[in-house]
Amino acid sequence: MTITEPTTGAVPDLDAARAALRSRLLDDGVLVDLGSPGLYGRTGVFERVYAAVDAAGVRSQADLGADVLRFPPVETLTAFERTDYIASFPDLAASVSAFTGDDRTHRALLAARERGDRWEDFLEPADLMLTPAVCHPVYGLVGDTVPQSGRTFDIVGDSFRREPSLDPMRLQAFHMHEFVVIGTPEDARAHRDGRIPGMRALLESFGLAIDVVPANDPFFGRVGQILARNQVEQSLKFEFVTPVYGPDHAATAISSANLHEDHFGTAFGIRTPDGEVAHSACVAFGLERITIALFAAHGTDPDAWPETVRAALAL
Ligand code: AMP
Ligand code: ZN
Repeated sequence: MTITEPTTGAVPDLDAARAALRSRLLDDGVLVDLGSPGLYGRTGVFERVYAAVDAAGVRSQADLGADVLRFPPVETLTAFERTDYIASFPDLAASVSAFTGDDRTHRALLAARERGDRWEDFLEPADLMLTPAVCHPVYGLVGDTVPQSGRTFDIVGDSFRREPSLDPMRLQAFHMHEFVVIGTPEDARAHRDGRIPGMRALLESFGLAIDVVPANDPFFGRVGQILARNQVEQSLKFEFVTPVYGPDHAATAISSANLHEDHFGTAFGIRTPDGEVAHSACVAFGLERITIALFAAHGTDPDAWPETVRAALAL
């Protein structure tokens, strides 16, 4: 008999643990490999759980009475510019390019393609960016003054971040469901803080072990180290993390609660009626991450999940 389990006390390698979960999801027909790391097709069983996760998230935030808004997976360059995303995360950003040339340029493109060269060099920036965070487009839509009681939005959509990885928890294209408040500094902070206990309870009701910890976003470069320290020191953003790969490895963020203070209010020129710069906050459910954490915790057959978990998800 061959013994393949690691010897007692050995910590399984993180990359091996990620590869094992990825293989399981692919082999058991939950995800379909599309040939680029972090890009997957999703099957019926994935969609069934994903839809249940999203619906449970929406139910948990129903008391907000949020205005529903849906956006395309791309945002205008103008809106993207104002968010300052490119200053903090240039390595995650991605833009849309399109062909605008004439017949001659098209022939040159086809010749390059024939030679096996990169032909995308013949495309021009289309002034559209792939949306990296689904709340971005809303700040340009609320006008220059929000009511004293603020505005609350329910936004779900595609996010793209160029972070190719074989970790099935790290996708390039994914969805987050956000609940955003734009209003007074007090309202924004109350939204960020007030939603945390309920979100935590919801994720725990899915049978996931959850910790709420200060976020440590991957700000780019040397200036980014300062921004990252600032984010932690000022406790601006919290993440709901779960130990997908066991207690010996860092837990993964499956949701977040983020106070932007006056960042978007200043960038988009939004004020409250008393003339103060508006503050904003958003809480986000990472839909694929929650879904995959569920498959990792309970197995790839939802019909065999614990009754309590199925009840919490109304599965
Ligand atoms: P963030 O704006 O970074 O707080 O993202 C909101 C949520 O989206 C996170 O808490 C994650 O659950 C999810 N998320 C962020 N990046 C990725 C990714 N690369 N793949 C899948 N989900 C992600
Ligand atoms: Zn947001």
